[in-house]
Amino acid sequence: MTLPRIGHGYDIHRVVPGRPMVLGGVTFPVDYGLDGHSDADCLTHAICDALLGAAGLADIGHFFPNTDAAFKNIDSQRLLQRVTRELADRGWRIGNVDASLIAERPKIAPKLTAMKEALAASMELDVGQIGLKATTNEGADDIGRGEAIAAHAVAIIFPHEST
Ligand code: MG
Repeated sequence: MTLPRIGHGYDIHRVVPGRPMVLGGVTFPVDYGLDGHSDADCLTHAICDALLGAAGLADIGHFFPNTDAAFKNIDSQRLLQRVTRELADRGWRIGNVDASLIAERPKIAPKLTAMKEALAASMELDVGQIGLKATTNEGADDIGRGEAIAAHAVAIIFPHEST
């Protein structure tokens, strides 16, 4: 019998002017965004790494290297869809995902439901299988000064045959 597996992911990206702010597949209407090779969606990247880690696979940088022009400014939901397929191909299905976003700005709460819906769609899950919280860093460190946004995620996966 193959037991369920748990995985953890973490990511952080710097806040810069003039980039789109995409978190959990949702674009926020602000004039600053996250710096990175892809759309820099740190929440989605943390979830990708939690899933890959649960399956014992290499991390997101291995699957989608930031030296590959194919991933320049890519929508990270496409990366999450690919990770979901990689797990399914290896006989894993996702049980649930829980994530925490740490951001001083923008205000996350108004878009929390939309983010859960986008993430659920990419992983072919029900919205009820996604936990998502947002907190600030209370003004401490670079995240607290609004200079970066970070995310933590955990995921549990099950072998296809188990019910
Ligand atoms: Mg990243």
